Amino acid sequence: MFDKQTYIGRFAPSPTGPLHLGSLYTALASFLDAKSQQGLWLLRIDDIDTPRNIKGAAEQILRTLAVFGLYWDGAVSYQSQSQNYYEAALQSLKRDQMLYACQCSRKTLANDERCYCRYKSLDLSIPYAYRVKTAALEIGFKDQLQGWIDDNNREQVDFVLKRKDQIFAYQFTVVLDDHLQAVNHIVRGYDLLASTTKQIYLQMLLGLSMPNYMHVPIILDSQGFKLSKQTLAEGVDINKPERLIYKLLGLLKQNPPVELERTSVDEQLDWAIRHWNPKALTNIQSVKV
Ligand code: GLU
Repeated sequence: MFDKQTYIGRFAPSPTGPLHLGSLYTALASFLDAKSQQGLWLLRIDDIDTPRNIKGAAEQILRTLAVFGLYWDGAVSYQSQSQNYYEAALQSLKRDQMLYACQCSRKTLANDERCYCRYKSLDLSIPYAYRVKTAALEIGFKDQLQGWIDDNNREQVDFVLKRKDQIFAYQFTVVLDDHLQAVNHIVRGYDLLASTTKQIYLQMLLGLSMPNYMHVPIILDSQGFKLSKQTLAEGVDINKPERLIYKLLGLLKQNPPVELERTSVDEQLDWAIRHWNPKALTNIQSVKV
């Protein structure tokens, strides 16, 4: 489909609320990284977790990205349209005996009781949650900003691929979607770093290639809390996009010249693509607004 050399990046927001400063920060970083390497920047709406979706949020996210000049390549894709694909991948892992049904309640697991379902051989045709069997493999990867990351010291936990409510889990869908879209560069927030070895494990099981990873800092509010939709971080103000882009470039440690504050969004992005220097974020996990 694409030349193997083409950089294919993506931004994959969940439509659980408006874009806040933290998500726009990640969007801008992934856009600049893709565009500075003549890459494609795809947009995927991660709307698989239907109970968490907010009506109208996806449209609002698209409008906001457009106001900030962050135009995506190609059509927007929606996870909700890939259900059959996820199901087929689940079935293939089931055939390979890499899955088991789990009937533990959230409460049991929250009380730190261990799950022994792996040894119970529950009937896989009944709608329980499905977990993937993990093995004590040494999984590691070189993050472009955070260096060598592995989970060798962590206890292996068989994680959920399909939940009891029959919704496919994030770890699973993200791996399948990125493969489906031929994504080879993932730029996202540091908060997802710990998920990456799980995702690499799934790539190995499914025989998929591993993309490059770059985990950029997350934004903390003045009290040191991560800006997130869960903590009801407010949506960005779309009225003065140049001001915000300038601010974000500062938070991305790009040292934008002062004159850039008063130019148009297009000129700002043009400057930022030409000067993009992700190395300035090396080993930084969070920045305060
Ligand atoms: N949809 C995920 C989120 O909004 C991001 C997925 C990813 O970048 O891997 O947190």
